[in-house]
Amino acid sequence: MSAEACYTIAVPIERAVTGVTISDGEHALCGYCGRSIGEGSPVGIYAYSMSDERDVTVARINCNDCATETITHPTLGGTEWLMRGTLALQSDVAHQSCQLVFVPNEGVVSMSPPTDGSNVVAEEQMEASMYCQQQ
Ligand SMILES: [Zn+2]
Repeated sequence: MSAEACYTIAVPIERAVTGVTISDGEHALCGYCGRSIGEGSPVGIYAYSMSDERDVTVARINCNDCATETITHPTLGGTEWLMRGTLALQSDVAHQSCQLVFVPNEGVVSMSPPTDGSNVVAEEQMEASMYCQQQ
């Protein structure tokens, strides 16, 4: 799965992730349950940008059932976003191929600024994530 983004975060995050390639082909796999997701499916993505980078990277995609609402492990020095949207199929006529791209039509669900992620709350987050896994 390639999901590189060559955008800067000088633009709104919604714009930075719009049209980001989620998968080469007609289907992508949920990063949690492995379900195949295709065009028109509601999805959640996790994207981040480290303070010393200008790029936004889409690191994870989840189906509607697995998409999380909160960032349980904020990364110090990085800005992170959880976003909801749908997948769209974009065909490349010249190369006779198609790609699944992200359309952030529901916007940002959660955001963690670079200052979040100190060790003080690490334990609390561990508990929170264990709780999530039990569900
Ligand atoms: Zn899933």
